Amino acid sequence: YTSYYHTMINPSVYMDVDGKYRGLDHNIHQAKGFTNYTIFSLWDTYRAEHPLLMLMKPNEATDMVKSMIKHQQQSVHGLLPVWSHMANDNWCMSGYHSTSVLTDAITKGADVNKEEALKAMVVTSNVSYYDGIGDYIKLGYVPFDVNGTAASTTLEYAYDDWCIYQLGKALNKPEEEIAVYAQRAMNYKNLYDKEHKLMRGKNKDGQFQSPFNPLKWGDAFTEGNSWHYTWSAFHDPQGLIDLMGGQQGFNQMMDSVFILPPVFDDSYYGGVIHEIREMQIMNMGQYAHGNQPIQHMLYLYNYSGQPWKAQHWIREVMDKLYTPNPDGYCGDEDNGQTSAWYVFSAMGFYPVCPGTDQYVMGTPYFKQMKLHLENGKTVQISAPGNSDENRYIASMTVNGKTLTRNYLTHKELMNGAKITMKMSSTPNKQRGVRESDFPYSFSKEVR
Ligand code: CA
Repeated sequence: YTSYYHTMINPSVYMDVDGKYRGLDHNIHQAKGFTNYTIFSLWDTYRAEHPLLMLMKPNEATDMVKSMIKHQQQSVHGLLPVWSHMANDNWCMSGYHSTSVLTDAITKGADVNKEEALKAMVVTSNVSYYDGIGDYIKLGYVPFDVNGTAASTTLEYAYDDWCIYQLGKALNKPEEEIAVYAQRAMNYKNLYDKEHKLMRGKNKDGQFQSPFNPLKWGDAFTEGNSWHYTWSAFHDPQGLIDLMGGQQGFNQMMDSVFILPPVFDDSYYGGVIHEIREMQIMNMGQYAHGNQPIQHMLYLYNYSGQPWKAQHWIREVMDKLYTPNPDGYCGDEDNGQTSAWYVFSAMGFYPVCPGTDQYVMGTPYFKQMKLHLENGKTVQISAPGNSDENRYIASMTVNGKTLTRNYLTHKELMNGAKITMKMSSTPNKQRGVRESDFPYSFSKEVR
């Protein structure tokens, strides 16, 4: 409940009782048919905070999307919010992650003007002078020798572009009109370094950034290192698995995150930023849950045939990195994101790729949990044998029917569902290991 409370503080209403509000252009606007919101800390909140609101508070979440579209229309740059901050944009962090929130909400049934939404996304993704977009369009990546956060920004743009492609497809746009976004969605591959099996910054001339230290914070990555960001192909874990030579190679790299020591190289930041110190204190190797880029990573074992490892680590993180005390968070809470991770993870699933209708399986935290949805339906999650020891899902039913796949759909939840899990102290290594059990990957769609 502490975490759930935190997810409901921001975004916050930003208008007077008569619906008047100061817009991004600093003129006074009248909100017609929606409530205007601000505080969109999107680099954090596109991951789980906005999807959680779309599940539990869809009316408010829809108004937030409408507020974002108005923001774009009032912007002299034509940009969707990056970090909406009371009639300003403070441009904090990277990406144009409003595209994720818009596509996710529309995929899940938000009643907004979809043509306006798509247009806002397309215009945003073509503002060539904003944060490396021009070079990104030309080269397929943001070059490191031009832009200091080049690699992390490239990975994030590629996912954001997949969101544009998805919405275009949902609106039946002709393929020739949206094909460019299918290509851009694969741009994450341009930064894959075979030698290290990791993402790495690239210079304008096509050469990888050198010298390269995968443990070093900074360089081509913002607030993290290559070990934290390599997993950022939210829309295409299978593509990442293929790059790493298949499931075995991928799982080895995933396992390595916890085996590597929590060491760092502070020469970039000229000192230890608090996110680095938090990674050391957490002592889970390079799994730096105190900051956002790696927070979806544990769930990726569901795409590579080892869902029980996700179940193991999710319980570790919930037990060790969250406590109901003044220092109960392992890093910045960041406007609901780190809390939304906990709330979803307690339910037993998480939106790895907002924009799909899928929630990827983890492991439930409680013996019994009930979600009271706004449409009057109830989702009941029962795991009577659940404990720290019995953290593995032996089997699972939804409305009495056995489910082996590693995800639930939004529709399944919205219809009201009775989810029952049989828990075990030993992993069931037969469950959720078939290709057909794995969640969404873009590569599989275009194969
Ligand atoms: Ca953060």
